[in-house]
Parts: sequence; C-alpha cells; structure tokens
Amino acid sequence: MHRPLSLKRTNDVVLSSTWSDGLVSSILLSDLRDACPCAHCTGEEIMGQTVFIGMKTFQPGMNELKALTPVGNYGVQASWKDGHDTGIYTWDMLRAIFESKNLSAATMAEIQKQVGG
Ligand SMILES: [Zn+2]
Repeated sequence: MHRPLSLKRTNDVVLSSTWSDGLVSSILLSDLRDACPCAHCTGEEIMGQTVFIGMKTFQPGMNELKALTPVGNYGVQASWKDGHDTGIYTWDMLRAIFESKNLSAATMAEIQKQVGG
C-alpha cells in the first residue's frame, strides 16, 4: 500500500503530496472536500436507498482546510473552516483522489498566478 511522505498546502486552494512510491501530485482542496467520505456527505444506505443526512449546499469556509490530523497509521482526518470534521480519508482514498484529480502543471501555474504561493 502506498502512503504519503508529505502532505502540505501549497496555497489557499491546493494540497500537494509526495508518496512512498515517488508519485508527486497536487489537488484542489475543493476536490478533497467533495470526496469527503463521511456518512454526512456520502449519504447512508437505509432500506436500500441512499439518504442524505446533510445538505450538499455551499457553506462559507467549506473548501478551506484548517487541519489534517493523522488517524492511527492508516489515514488523516480533515477539519474544514465551516466546522466539518467527520471525514476520515484512508491512504487508499487519498491516493485515489490524488491520482484522479491531479492538477496539470498549466493549471497549477494558473492558480499560482491568481492566488500566489
Ligand atoms: Zn463529510
């Protein structure tokens, strides 16, 4: 299993990571938030139907990452500025997000031009 050697915010909107197998990838924090694996965000299966407990509406601060806290040695818990902190991302989940949402160099350059960092 791959695991991140580093996870750091490059600027206000980007999270960058280096992995044990050498993968270097950057993603938007909004993509990380969109992939929040908690029951509140993904909905729960009740009687065969997916029921959403929380509303997926935009909240101020929802894409602003406050902290990533290690959970055991298998993942991290994300705390967001809107107060949401129930999402625990395992290394496998994080890896899948970093692989599928990896920002191109051109996109990164564009973001850095707009927000700095
Ligand atoms: Zn969530």
